Amino acid sequence: ENDGRVYNFAAGPATLPANVVKKAQQDLYNWQGCGMSIMEMSHRGKEFLSVIQKAEADLRALLAIPDNYEVLFLQGGASTLFSAIPLNLCSPEDTADFIVTGSWGDKAYKEAQKYCKANLAWSGKATKYTSIPSSGSELKLTPGAKFVHVCANETIHGVEFKDWYPAVGEGTILVADMSSNFCSKPVDVSKFGVIYAGAQKNVGPSGVTIAIVRKDLVGGAQPTTPVMLDFKTHADNKSLYNTPPCFAIYMCGLVFEDLLHQGGLEAIARKNNDKAEILYRAIDGSDGFYKCPVEASVRSVMNVPFTMASPEMEAAFVKEAAGKGMVQLKGHRSVGGVRASIYNAMPRAGVEKLVALMKDFQARHQA
Ligand code: PLP
Repeated sequence: ENDGRVYNFAAGPATLPANVVKKAQQDLYNWQGCGMSIMEMSHRGKEFLSVIQKAEADLRALLAIPDNYEVLFLQGGASTLFSAIPLNLCSPEDTADFIVTGSWGDKAYKEAQKYCKANLAWSGKATKYTSIPSSGSELKLTPGAKFVHVCANETIHGVEFKDWYPAVGEGTILVADMSSNFCSKPVDVSKFGVIYAGAQKNVGPSGVTIAIVRKDLVGGAQPTTPVMLDFKTHADNKSLYNTPPCFAIYMCGLVFEDLLHQGGLEAIARKNNDKAEILYRAIDGSDGFYKCPVEASVRSVMNVPFTMASPEMEAAFVKEAAGKGMVQLKGHRSVGGVRASIYNAMPRAGVEKLVALMKDFQARHQA
């Protein structure tokens, strides 16, 4: 079953496609017959240059990234972008609006307060981050704000922006943290000034953060911006200003190639929607034995949180699942419950197996 591997429902680092991991295993010893592993070669050599260039080209093809956008491979995690975004897009006097739909958006908002005037334009905190604004009239946007920041998918709370994004005024740009739904579906990149994502959920191992930045937004960083946080540094040097996370970039490249082979992001989105539907249907059809607190229309296709009657019962479920080869189902420490992350690389069979256990567990535990 599953090629001798468990079904890994972790939120990140997360499961990768089995064929990609197998390919990497070979390349780790001797990459394309060059006698070195991918981890041992110079980042300036022709071998690694071909790797990073192909990774970028494949990502551009997947997301149909327009030519007036840079693709940057960065370090420091998505958390570092929480500082880099205001440092690159604002002066300390400028205002930026934050739509906070969960813990990650809240972290971005708090960090930005150090570097610009950060305004809380919407918060879902009072309702425990179970919804997303559905129209612009709910937002307290600032006229003339430099940017509006959203977290496209809140990994912990399981709320996801679907088709709707706030309309921003002329001169304001939309910035999205897509860490946990990057490349899970097609996205109209041209709607955004900056899209960024830590790779370790949907497209690779930890160690690389991808930023897609409109070219006219490069070069205006605050003067005190550390050189490593300035988008211009990385744009001018094609992500090779200093030693990049070579292995992580290589792995992302394999994943991008695999996603293209699977038919691109339309095909991937269909598979992801199908998996999510199976799981939410099981939750909603359980007569309240399992509960997902998130408003139905904005439930995440990637991270599915649910609760049961007591923390003890949840712990028993998580333990039983692990015994059956379904691991990492414990909810985030800040919210508890159970969370199934079902990223691109989670096979449908993994979700079906989880649902079968949910039904069986309910039959045995329902009062
Ligand atoms: N943004 C989102 C939506 C995340 O899920 C995470 C990590 O889980 C982060 C940001 C932080 O990413 P990193 O650990 O790469 O700094």
